[in-house]
Amino acid sequence: MKILIVLAHPELKSMNGAMFQKAIAALTTAGHEVKVSDLYRDQFNPVSDRGNFTTTYDEAFFKQQLEEMHAVESAGFAIDIEQEQQKVEWCDLMIWQFPLWWFTVPGILKGWVDRVFAMGRFYGNSRCYETGMLRGKKALLSLTTGGAGESYLKDGLHGDLEGILKPVHRGMLEFVGFSVLSPQVVYAPVRQPEEQRETVLNDWEERLSRIFGEEPMVVGRY
Ligand SMILES: Cc1cc2nc3c(=O)[nH]c(=O)nc-3n(C[C@H](O)[C@H](O)[C@H](O)COP(=O)(O)OP(=O)(O)OC[C@H]3O[C@@H](n4cnc5c(N)ncnc54)[C@H](O)[C@@H]3O)c2cc1C
Repeated sequence: MKILIVLAHPELKSMNGAMFQKAIAALTTAGHEVKVSDLYRDQFNPVSDRGNFTTTYDEAFFKQQLEEMHAVESAGFAIDIEQEQQKVEWCDLMIWQFPLWWFTVPGILKGWVDRVFAMGRFYGNSRCYETGMLRGKKALLSLTTGGAGESYLKDGLHGDLEGILKPVHRGMLEFVGFSVLSPQVVYAPVRQPEEQRETVLNDWEERLSRIFGEEPMVVGRY
């Protein structure tokens, strides 16, 4: 199968970097084809503006979604966006590896979505959710937190992680058609002893060995 792994962490020697490298090795060894978008090392520009396009629909007033619809018709996406869109369209499974920042994905990954998930290309013309253009593909969030696991339960300090991740699961991934697998969460790796982090990495490898047998979650509207 074809897997795209998107990494959004500034330090490759971090736990996120280790999870990323473990996933590449495990999936490649299992015979899958892997492509990556390592956003910091690629120096991906997360700022969404006219630089997204080589074409112009309205030079007097910039409205991103109209420019996107025009770019779809005129092959007018900037090369960095076009390359990322093609990788997303290529894959059967997309994995995002990131640290939870302010209860969501790091800005560089949010900017990647802002620029790459274009109207007319991934959604639009009444196509979203079940009819989103990326229907048939799966997506998986693999993340780390600073807070401990118990703080992300329903009655915990931060509230349940499922609710925190819903804007990403529902508003970004399901919106364009992805089916979402349950997230891989490493709680507070910085507070874990070395051996526990090694176990976490081995568990991740083990899960990936049977990932294509997993059923998606039902995120739904509420
Ligand atoms: C802007 C910002 C916002 C944040 N917002 C939130 C928030 O909303 N909620 C929240 O809970 N937290 C938040 N945090 C904390 C953040 O989520 C955690 O710091 C992060 O998830 C930890 O992951 P890491 O990869 O950076 O860990 P690191 O600190 O890089 O790694 C943890 C440990 O793993 C070790 N390690 C690396 N590779 C391996 C390996 N191969 N084997 C074994 N050990 C290894 C590292 O050496 C390190 O000791 C925020 C942090 C920032 C900077």
